[in-house]
Amino acid sequence: MASTSSEDSLRHLLRVKPGEQIDLARFDCGATMGRDKDKAEVHLAHHLARLTELQERIYAEAKHAVLIVLQGIDAAGKDGTIRVIAGAFNPQGTPVTSFKVPSTHEAAHDYLWRIHAAVPGKGEIGIFNRSQYEQVLVVRVHELEPEERWRRHYRQIRDWERMLTEEGVTILKFFLAIDNDTQRQRFQERVDDPVKRWKFSTADVAERKLWDDYRAAFEEMLTETSTDYAPWFLIPANHNWLRNLAVSEIVADEIEALNPQYPEPETGVEGTRIE
Ligand code: AMP
Ligand code: MG
Repeated sequence: MASTSSEDSLRHLLRVKPGEQIDLARFDCGATMGRDKDKAEVHLAHHLARLTELQERIYAEAKHAVLIVLQGIDAAGKDGTIRVIAGAFNPQGTPVTSFKVPSTHEAAHDYLWRIHAAVPGKGEIGIFNRSQYEQVLVVRVHELEPEERWRRHYRQIRDWERMLTEEGVTILKFFLAIDNDTQRQRFQERVDDPVKRWKFSTADVAERKLWDDYRAAFEEMLTETSTDYAPWFLIPANHNWLRNLAVSEIVADEIEALNPQYPEPETGVEGTRIE
């Protein structure tokens, strides 16, 4: 089983260093990080059991907030990751928020307004399906704002995340990297499988044509916004089993490092006899 601090742990290997240049065209999205598929189920179960206990401790202690951010191109596996990770948690204390195209009301405010309102409170582990980062992704690719404006968002987001971490929010950001052919296969499956078809829209075909624009936007996002205090983890996500293993292991290791403790009992509780 992976240890929590060794240099070859996934939380070290997959962490994007501040300012690191990322070339996603050369990144091996099918990497298995030396892990064995046959053992993946057992290891995943182990990490999910760790997550169940850690979440209970975080909740009981009510000292830390943990925010897990998921980004990735369409069909990268954001929903599947949430199903697996959130499945280990007690839903009472682990809010999941999906960010869609802003409503008229949301769009009338600054872009962080709706995001900030969804940041988990002390004792909570929150998961974002898409996030503040859409402001340098879809907004950039579709030219929804002029460049001089979306470019400022890198700094604004870094500053905002610094404030949150200083106030006790642990931010863990996961970029799920799949390659072009994997997206093609997953889209085809959605089209062919009546049970998955609802997930597919013709707009996905148009978005897929913008692959290279999204790639450039993802690369720059990772370089500009992976910080010591709010790191990105670059997850090879062609294989669902490795993706689930990596995210669950990193989240468990990072929360374990916070060392959450059950609170001390009230004085007089110990030894109380209930009549
Ligand atoms: P899905 O995650 O498939 O449900 O799709 C949500 C859609 O909302 C995606 O196409 C996102 O790009 C879009 N979206 C999310 N946040 C924003 C934003 N800030 N501005 C514009 N579009 C957004
Ligand atoms: Mg979609």
